[in-house]
Amino acid sequence: QKVLVSGVSGYVGAHVARELLQQGFTVRGTVRSADKADAVRKALSPFVAFANRLEFAIVADIGAADAFDEAVKGVDYVLHTASPFHYNVTDPQRDLIDPAVNGTLGVLRSIAAHGKDVKRVVITSSLAAIRNSPTAIPEGLSELDWNESAVSQFNSLKAATPPGVAYAASKTFAERAAWDFVKNEKPAFDLVTINPPFIFGPIIHPCASINDLNTSVKIFADFYTKKVTEVNPVMAVGCVDVRDVARAHVLAITIPKASGQRFIISSGSFTHEKLVQILEEKFPEHKPFASGKTTSVPVREVNTKSKEVLGIGEYIPLEQMVVDTIVDLKAKFGI
Ligand code: NDP
Repeated sequence: QKVLVSGVSGYVGAHVARELLQQGFTVRGTVRSADKADAVRKALSPFVAFANRLEFAIVADIGAADAFDEAVKGVDYVLHTASPFHYNVTDPQRDLIDPAVNGTLGVLRSIAAHGKDVKRVVITSSLAAIRNSPTAIPEGLSELDWNESAVSQFNSLKAATPPGVAYAASKTFAERAAWDFVKNEKPAFDLVTINPPFIFGPIIHPCASINDLNTSVKIFADFYTKKVTEVNPVMAVGCVDVRDVARAHVLAITIPKASGQRFIISSGSFTHEKLVQILEEKFPEHKPFASGKTTSVPVREVNTKSKEVLGIGEYIPLEQMVVDTIVDLKAKFGI
């Protein structure tokens, strides 16, 4: 069976492709250019044998009209991971919201028009679409929650919206647009969303230098290399290993009862203070790392549904995410 993975050159996309290939699927990945296709092929080859089970479709801009019309032909499932995740923003509407929303609606429209074999679409949404950090609520966050706060902040601040809030708004708008599309258009395929908090773990996508790391893994690198020397006291969110995220995406296409549901995929809480503690314990020769304490109470994310419906089993703990990521970055970039 053939699965389209958008954003296969990205951190999450590459892991999702690897998991699919390992489980015997054929993968068609979208990339912006032929050069990126070659780089992804090369990057994945040490991890999984794929022979002729990996192919590519060029989608230069996910936000362009009809961008996915060709890519969706002849595939059985679509995993839409591509969406901008960075804080390097001059115009939040243009840089984050438009590609997120138009990319999501574009892929759904292309499937409705040209993807007659597609049975299910899985969208990589985010915990950012559920609740803006770092607000803690005692009962915990569930799949019933939506990040109304990011939406209202963006609607009032517009161009002046801080990048983190604008990113959260982009994920909220995009995921809402997807559920509305399914409700209104009643397409032949069904929809599942995966809503992870911060994702960490080794990288397998093409990444030329430590400066090109994706936004989440860069946090670990910045603390390890001491570019960051103070913890952010209010940073208290959740975390999940990229290998668990990849597994969740594949389970989301193979488990029938996942249909029409959102899933929080989370291992537990993440604070800069905890990260520093683990770095000091596991890499004592480089002590001390950043200083400072976390003052916010970590948000509790209820991951029960991911266990009960997807059968995700045990999540990789933060300690292992930290060790595996740093060991990987040391080997790749000599940090
Ligand atoms: P990356 O930046 O590593 O990957 C993003 C991917 O999307 C890349 O392949 C990128 O292509 C592609 N892309 C982005 N914008 C466009 C565009 N306009 N046109 C074509 N391709 C585009 O990020 P992640 O892998 O971390 O993120 C993947 C998904 O996971 C996103 O939807 C993100 O919101 C979500 N997510 C990530 C979390 C994390 O902590 N990493 C947490 C929760 C959700 P290129 O490389 O060519 O730019």
